[in-house]
Amino acid sequence: MGRLIDGDKLIEDLRRYGHENISVDGLEGIIALIPSANPERKTGMWIEDTDDWQYECSECGERYSFDADSTPMDAGLKYCPNCGARMEGIE
Ligand SMILES: [Zn+2]
Repeated sequence: MGRLIDGDKLIEDLRRYGHENISVDGLEGIIALIPSANPERKTGMWIEDTDDWQYECSECGERYSFDADSTPMDAGLKYCPNCGARMEGIE
């Protein structure tokens, strides 16, 4: 696998430098200056609130409701839909 870069950062730089018709060499120069992306995903836990059957993401605080006796794991939520953290379980 080649070097990973942040695609959003590339687009941001292209817009900032105002390239309309850019050559492959020019694009290569811009990509060379973009730092490598860190593919490491953050991890989180679901924090259970049994009062109203909600679970909160420990990383971003977003809350999700589930049916009684159903957990985010039952629903197949391995990642927080809001922040993308890999969820390791229920706290
Ligand atoms: Zn989250």
